[in-house]
Amino acid sequence: MNPKTGTPRKIVVIGGGAAGFFTAITAAEADPAAEVTVYEKGNAFLTKVKISGGGRCNVTHACFDPAVLSKNYPRGSRELRGAFYEWQPQDTVAWFEARGVELKAEADGRMFPVTDRSQTIIDCFMKSARDAGVILKTGIALHELQAEPDGKFSLHLSNGETVRADKVCITSGSLKASPLTRAIESLGHYIEPLVPSLFAFNIPDHRLNDLAGLSVQDAGVKIIPKSPVQRGPVLITHRGLSGPAILRLSAWEARRFAEQDYAVEISVNWLGKTSAEELRETFSNNRMESGKSLVKNKVPAGLPRRLWERLLESAAIAPETQWSQLTKDRENALAHQLTDGRFEVKGKTTNKDEFVTCGGVRLKEIDFRRMESRIVPGLHFAGECLDIDGITGGYNFQAAWTGGRIAGLAMVD
Ligand SMILES: Cc1cc2nc3c(=O)[nH]c(=O)nc-3n(C[C@H](O)[C@H](O)[C@H](O)COP(=O)(O)OP(=O)(O)OC[C@H]3O[C@@H](n4cnc5c(N)ncnc54)[C@H](O)[C@@H]3O)c2cc1C
Repeated sequence: MNPKTGTPRKIVVIGGGAAGFFTAITAAEADPAAEVTVYEKGNAFLTKVKISGGGRCNVTHACFDPAVLSKNYPRGSRELRGAFYEWQPQDTVAWFEARGVELKAEADGRMFPVTDRSQTIIDCFMKSARDAGVILKTGIALHELQAEPDGKFSLHLSNGETVRADKVCITSGSLKASPLTRAIESLGHYIEPLVPSLFAFNIPDHRLNDLAGLSVQDAGVKIIPKSPVQRGPVLITHRGLSGPAILRLSAWEARRFAEQDYAVEISVNWLGKTSAEELRETFSNNRMESGKSLVKNKVPAGLPRRLWERLLESAAIAPETQWSQLTKDRENALAHQLTDGRFEVKGKTTNKDEFVTCGGVRLKEIDFRRMESRIVPGLHFAGECLDIDGITGGYNFQAAWTGGRIAGLAMVD
């Protein structure tokens, strides 16, 4: 209820995705008298939730310290830190549990419904929204939005209707190629450039030929000449490289990749953090202790044999070479291949498990205590339309839940 007028509040949420549902359910449950409507331009709700996490929906991440959690967001880290004190993965887990949906954590911290089906999450949202009286409309897009002098909003919809609302929350997802960018900009907001994040690398390189499917559990990758090293599993694909460490690099360096049109040189340390120096010491021990044995038979821990053999070949070390026959030159070449393998990225490939947009509504223009525009009072934002994105692992949905929760409560206070 609107305390000033005594009439029910009219709240409109634009976009029936993750953030939209969380916003709408939160608002409708907090103020049962409010009229909360979700407009979704597509024919179905929650389509990304459906395909998320390979159909399992990686709902959140088992990281319960807001300060640590916020470090997983290349964009939005500082702003989300405070917001996570309001709503964090623990709250998400409890929210679903209270509605009969149990989540489980996997060894790497990713959390999924115990059913391993994203449909469980969708069913939960649909039931919660209906129980709370949320009005759900598909096939209707927002075209234009006007802030009126009386503090209300006029929304021009794709079905020709114009509706009025006391509060509006934009949860439209990525603004890339979205006609909504114009509507948002015309209200005075700036949209940070929109570029992809969380992509795999195309690397046409003979060293990777026929090795698709092999993975190294702890590799280090960075951009040449300089970037922080991202550590973790690296997977060789038919087109190049993927896996968590690569996706992390794509996320943290998303803008740089875009600026360089995805033509970037990277360095791969297949041995995690082992340095060339340490490796030379190991080689020297091998030479002394097992000089007669073949170099190719001493596969470094964690390296698949076929990749090792390929790297030996790339360092021009013949299969019959013994440790005692390894020259300084070849030793250096091998150390280089192992700890600082240079690869030319030539384009990107979409990561099928998760990809997001870097860029969106400028964060300085949003009051994160309410997820409300500092330019247009009563206008709220949540989810991927903001300049927020996380690495893979459930962080992107968590940002949507947190933003939706805060916006939903703020619209009815
Ligand atoms: C393949 C894939 C898998 C993923 N898996 C995961 C995962 O497991 N875990 C994770 O954390 N993240 C995952 N993500 C990222 C995650 O899906 C997004 O971060 C999240 O969906 C963002 O939520 P959102 O509500 O902001 O946007 P969305 O979920 O994209 O929802 C926005 C909705 O708004 C609608 N809309 C847009 N414009 C208008 C308009 N003008 N009028 C009305 N409606 C409009 C859209 O049609 C859409 O339904 C995945 C992404 C992809 C592409």
